Amino acid sequence: MDEQLKQRLAQAKNLPTLPAVAMRITELARDPDADLGQVADAISNDPALVAKVLRIANSPFYALRRRCDNLRQALTFLGINGTLALALSFSLLRAFRDQRHSGLDHEWFWRRSLIAAASSRVLAERLAPSAGEELFLGALLQDIGMLALDSAVADFYAPLRKQPSAHQLFMTHEHAQLGTDHAAVGAWLLELWHLPDHIQKAAAGSHEPESVAEGEPLRTFVRCVCIAGHMADAWIAEEPAGALQRLKELAQGLLGLEAEEVEQALSAVAEQLPEIESLFEIDLGDTRLMESILEEAKEAQVLQNLQLLREASDASATKESLELRTRQLEEQSRRDPLTGLYNRGHLDRVLREEFEQAQRHRWPLSVVFADLDHFKGVNDAHGHQAGDGVLAAAAQLLVSCTRGGDVIARYGGEEFVIVLPGSGSEGARVVCARLVDAFARTHHAVGEGESVVVTASVGVATHGEAVEFQDVSELIRAADRALYTAKLAGRNRLAEYEPDKAGHVSGARFRGSG
Ligand code: GH3
Ligand code: MG
Ligand code: MG
Repeated sequence: MDEQLKQRLAQAKNLPTLPAVAMRITELARDPDADLGQVADAISNDPALVAKVLRIANSPFYALRRRCDNLRQALTFLGINGTLALALSFSLLRAFRDQRHSGLDHEWFWRRSLIAAASSRVLAERLAPSAGEELFLGALLQDIGMLALDSAVADFYAPLRKQPSAHQLFMTHEHAQLGTDHAAVGAWLLELWHLPDHIQKAAAGSHEPESVAEGEPLRTFVRCVCIAGHMADAWIAEEPAGALQRLKELAQGLLGLEAEEVEQALSAVAEQLPEIESLFEIDLGDTRLMESILEEAKEAQVLQNLQLLREASDASATKESLELRTRQLEEQSRRDPLTGLYNRGHLDRVLREEFEQAQRHRWPLSVVFADLDHFKGVNDAHGHQAGDGVLAAAAQLLVSCTRGGDVIARYGGEEFVIVLPGSGSEGARVVCARLVDAFARTHHAVGEGESVVVTASVGVATHGEAVEFQDVSELIRAADRALYTAKLAGRNRLAEYEPDKAGHVSGARFRGSG
């Protein structure tokens, strides 16, 4: 892009600007040290955005075992980068969809962008599982340069008005008029907005994905964004058959996808379209023609046999595996070697952080103490090694009774702590009851042909609903007291902490369950 055009655009009155919330989110997305609390702060200023993020976390895109009821749970689930990418997608779309325009068919524009975004998610599932939301954002914004040109240069696209919109036509027109195209303009705008590097690169490379050399880390990312754009073209083209053929050739060349794999990916996109329409409140138009083409293709496909996708064999894979190893080592230092659960040191850190977040954002936090019943008897009867085996199995039971964002730690000996961020007493009670029940029903092998059942006593306390604790140690103490109550009441059961009438941490009301 030449300097003259840059200046012309930069001085244009109508050039789209980043809304305030998106600006803050962008800052955080660029900051490697951004923490969960800052992300929560930025998003929770905008209740509509919070609602959208929660909705997407609970949408069929993610098969969740439990609902995400608040931003804390969604953040844990989607991750900081994922949440930021989604929040940016929503806020940018909201800000720009009703922009004044001079020639560009905005409905067509957003239809292509959103279907491309949905397509990139499908590609991510297969080729870049951890980058789903960022690919979504990258694909969504790949053509943002068109919006910039449309608003900054009066009647720029007016000559195209008479023909049906098609991505290729825009490119040709842009090159003829400006000697460049919306990919370069988009990358320039995204840089001006300080969007993350990979989002800029995705726009820049969306028309020339070959320009990202082998070995560069963003190679697969950029290629996925480009193919996602062509998948969208297949959905909205006047002549889908031709667009489909072109897509298949490109997908084979750039991502090594076979024709059937492309068809499967398109079908997967079809399943997401209704949800995308409702989430983004947009009409994606008539897609029946494409659907019938896919239907035919499916019938013709004799070998339905799903071939595992080729691993994208980039040098980036090596870099990723190094980073993975570093993360694994860090992770190890937080773990208890016998059970693989978090150790006490990590638990203390998590608890401090979560308590602070819960106070700041007024979301609930539950802490569960679980202690195996008469465990000494297992050691005495079957030996210490058998006891170790039971402890490891108990840890697995705890994992299976909780969900991803919950933190499970070995507190000491045969005592475990589970932190449930964002869970109120009702949610915590469900988890605890499931846990007590699971222990009572599980037989552990100890030595030849022998097995034992080891029950558990569970105490739970919740901060931020009926009780506000002063600090984290008070919360822990309350959960520990509840555990003590469960033991006294006969073990193999759950007890919840309830404050006495004065609201002090003392005594826990008993609720039988075992
Ligand atoms: P209660 O129902 O009151 O909790 O009875 P208990 O026997 O489980 O509790 P107590 O605290 O009296 O005994 C805990 C036992 O757990 C004693 C200890 O040897 C055993 N233990 C602690 N850590 C380990 C371990 O790492 N491996 C094995 N095998 N046993 C352990
Ligand atoms: Mg015990
Ligand atoms: Mg004990």
